[in-house]
Amino acid sequence: MTYPFVQQALAAREEASLLRQRKVVNSTSQGIIDIDGHQCINFGSNDYLGLSQNQEVLQSYVEGLALYGAGSTASSLVCGYMRPHQELEAVVCELLNKESALLTSSGFAANQIICQTFAQEKRHSEQSILCDKLMHASFIEGALNSSAELLRYRHNDIAHFEKQLEACNSSTLIATEGVFSMDGDLGKLREIINSLMSVRPSLKDSDQGMRNVQLLVDDAHGFGVVGEEGAGVSGLLDINEQEIDIVMATFGKAIGTGGAFIAGSTCFIEFLVNFAKHFVYSTAPPPAQAYATIKSIKIMQQGQLREKLGQNIALFKHLCHQNGLADTHSDTAIQPIVVGNPDKCVNASDALLDLGIYAPAIRTPTVAAGSDRLRVTLSATHQNKDIESLVDALCIVRERQGWAE
Ligand SMILES: *Cc1c(COP(=O)(O)O)cnc(C)c1O
Repeated sequence: MTYPFVQQALAAREEASLLRQRKVVNSTSQGIIDIDGHQCINFGSNDYLGLSQNQEVLQSYVEGLALYGAGSTASSLVCGYMRPHQELEAVVCELLNKESALLTSSGFAANQIICQTFAQEKRHSEQSILCDKLMHASFIEGALNSSAELLRYRHNDIAHFEKQLEACNSSTLIATEGVFSMDGDLGKLREIINSLMSVRPSLKDSDQGMRNVQLLVDDAHGFGVVGEEGAGVSGLLDINEQEIDIVMATFGKAIGTGGAFIAGSTCFIEFLVNFAKHFVYSTAPPPAQAYATIKSIKIMQQGQLREKLGQNIALFKHLCHQNGLADTHSDTAIQPIVVGNPDKCVNASDALLDLGIYAPAIRTPTVAAGSDRLRVTLSATHQNKDIESLVDALCIVRERQGWAE
């Protein structure tokens, strides 16, 4: 027995077909998973390059364990900051052309750190956070729990962004995702940067080299996948890295390991090292994980895996087009198939499972009501026949369930 409100909350979710439950994965290898006893081709993971299973990465993990032990044993400010952590930060800085970086145990923690340290303890109560409506929950929660005023603009709507910007306080943190986690489309960085320069030039006080408006990109799904050398959106051709003040991303997706980073100016990172409670009072991530992550980034940079992923994305889009499955408008590894209703969406995911395909149902509140979807993610490990099977299965399920186009 527990509190009545706990039972009521669960019952309400169940009633709305929105109860969430975990599925146990018994094994995973080469793009095939055994999930809740179903052997199927995995179109649910964020391991876009297959690096979580890469032999060289695994070997590095073992080496890292032998050299540094199983855990970091303390917070970074005590004695948990080890050589591989420092080296990984340097690798990130070089790739993103940033002065400094800070490792965190997760991307969720990284976003909490950024928001809450930016606007802590009602420092001046004149801080604003302005972000895209579709920002990840880790950022929104961080922003809501900070003392900043939170403003949002409609997804990728630059006119609305400019309007909201007018209402911001003098110290403003602007945030967008590089690649949006549920739609796979890119944040409109070029336009955002242009607006920042033209709409409120006075906010960028270049005299003191201090900017009152800082741009943060959450590149959880872009890092390792898009841009020159897989640097993420800051490596896109029309972006100068210096136009983005702060970049955060996780290593748990395309890089295949775990943990995350925040990269920016030395001054900002030093501020976090001193004032970010989630960092100061938390055990540093395992050094072996950092050691393996360095290896994984090096393999990602070589480019073959990113190229293969690109071919798989093109093949999937081509087959969808051929079979009249709605165009997802995404050119990245994230390819949403909107079903539009939570019940139907879960049924579709279950029906796919019976056909040997795992494509998770993503429902509201993770996505907007009415946009419940199968979130198909592609990986470099998929073979052509895997993608053909996926599209065949999607067509079969669509026919049975009669989705609208
Ligand atoms: C996954 C994700 C995070 C959180 O990263 P974790 O390392 O999984 O905690 C943050 N932002 C976005 C956009 C994400 O998709």
